[in-house]
Amino acid sequence: MNKKVVIIGGGVSGLSAGIYCQLNGFDTEIFEMNNLPGGQCTAWDRKGYRFDYCLHWLVGTASGPFHSIWKTTGVLNENIKVINQAIHTKIVDEKEGEFIIYSDIIRWEKYLIEMAPEDSVAIKKMCSDMQKTSRLQPFANPAELRSVSDYLTSFLKIIPTLSILIKYGKKTCNEYFKGLKLTNKRLIFFLQSIFGENDFSALVFLMMLGWFHQKNAGYLLGGSLPLSIRMAEKFKSLGGTLYLVKKVDKIIVNNGIAKGVLLHDGEIIDADYVISAADGYATIFKMLEGKYQSEQIKTAYSTWPLFTPIVQVSFGIDKEINSGVANQTILSNGLRIGKTVLKNGYSLMNYSFDATMAPKGKTVLVIRFESPWSLWEDLIGEDYKAEKRQIENDALALLEEKYPGVSAFVEKIDVATPKTTVRYTGVWKGAYEGFLPSSTNISKTIKMTLPGLDNFYMCGQWLFPGGGLPPAAQSGKWAAQLICKKERKEFVE
Ligand SMILES: Cc1cc2nc3c(=O)[nH]c(=O)nc-3n(C[C@H](O)[C@H](O)[C@H](O)COP(=O)(O)OP(=O)(O)OC[C@H]3O[C@@H](n4cnc5c(N)ncnc54)[C@H](O)[C@@H]3O)c2cc1C
Repeated sequence: MNKKVVIIGGGVSGLSAGIYCQLNGFDTEIFEMNNLPGGQCTAWDRKGYRFDYCLHWLVGTASGPFHSIWKTTGVLNENIKVINQAIHTKIVDEKEGEFIIYSDIIRWEKYLIEMAPEDSVAIKKMCSDMQKTSRLQPFANPAELRSVSDYLTSFLKIIPTLSILIKYGKKTCNEYFKGLKLTNKRLIFFLQSIFGENDFSALVFLMMLGWFHQKNAGYLLGGSLPLSIRMAEKFKSLGGTLYLVKKVDKIIVNNGIAKGVLLHDGEIIDADYVISAADGYATIFKMLEGKYQSEQIKTAYSTWPLFTPIVQVSFGIDKEINSGVANQTILSNGLRIGKTVLKNGYSLMNYSFDATMAPKGKTVLVIRFESPWSLWEDLIGEDYKAEKRQIENDALALLEEKYPGVSAFVEKIDVATPKTTVRYTGVWKGAYEGFLPSSTNISKTIKMTLPGLDNFYMCGQWLFPGGGLPPAAQSGKWAAQLICKKERKEFVE
């Protein structure tokens, strides 16, 4: 008889774990509390419009270890069109004007040098650092299964990049910009405004731009929900069972061995192995009552910074609006939207590059801004509704400023708050990518196992500062690899 694996959570990490467990001969059941698979990688349909909540860029659309995972899990196939935007973001500031981030580093370098010729040496250095990071590839196997040759191969590949890792591995973006000795005030202003917040890691900044340049972090036509549905279909086609609207309350442990889960409706599900692909905090501190904590987990959950949650206001517009740029950041710091005073401006997205988001002749526009969890956690009832109404009005006024007369064409407005995310996915404090990658945690990952607990693995965004879809899916695969190792089975992918 096959051994049985129970997976908590049907987000991208849970679906990936399920697919790899099925491929390796386990009987796998996923329990998802929502009525849809995909977790945060989702979208919702309103009045004929689709409001996407996640996907902008997916690392691994062209090559590397993530790419093979996307192919195995059904995320990528020959019918899926990948879009690589020429302009990653346009930044707009009332005083300083416009600033463009091109995805192609060579084009960006030319643009920056035209803007700040006095800094050409520093700009060339920055762009060359970005290009060098392309050699940095994630490990294909979990730490527990890496051989000496895995480390050696990876070391040999990154030799030309080693100096970047050593020099900038522990630096913040602001320290990196200072080290470049830039002098052009406008350039410094824009770089710091976009990347200088919150101790953000210099290495992540360099790598991100490197991925865009390689066209290895594209957008998949159709967006987030079809991506998740493809994974769920793949899982089911391999014989896995996906239960929706089934919340897990507790992980059942007997003599230090995970034995199954207790569902919210009282049902007990037995298992040989349990994988939690649900929110990290809920797994460790609620489903396992905080009984199995490593020192690293105590430190991470009490000191590592989190992503600030976001509010998304989506507009269905009965008119074609073509802005030419999909993604803009408007640096209106100090501006209020509802109770939130903007710290990092707001983004304005135009989804007209993806025809699946709106009927012909119509457009989806989205305003998104960061809003601290402290503003939301105690907001309930009429106060919560009033805040949503205020946000709707304020966001519409901003849109009207950008596109005068647009209000007359608005058919639908939808406000998703940090509470919406928490309600649907349980993500801790609305931190949509988990731990913020900072100079102190960027080289760290949280172990997939817990001390004193056997036959249990964690996967998902909370194991890797920076989170995101690729590490979520990869850790799902790794959980299946670790179970295979325990069962002395050769892992099949
Ligand atoms: C607005 C936004 C934009 C983003 N943009 C990008 C992007 O462009 N590129 C990128 O790579 N990443 C992006 N991300 C991040 C990415 O969506 C997440 O990092 C990733 O989806 C996390 O996957 P996960 O499986 O680890 O967790 P989740 O998606 O949080 O999935 C956890 C699942 O577990 C379920 N669950 C929780 N508790 C229980 C329980 N007790 N019982 C049963 N089920 C439970 C939840 O309902 C959920 O389905 C974005 C996220 C957001 C919100």
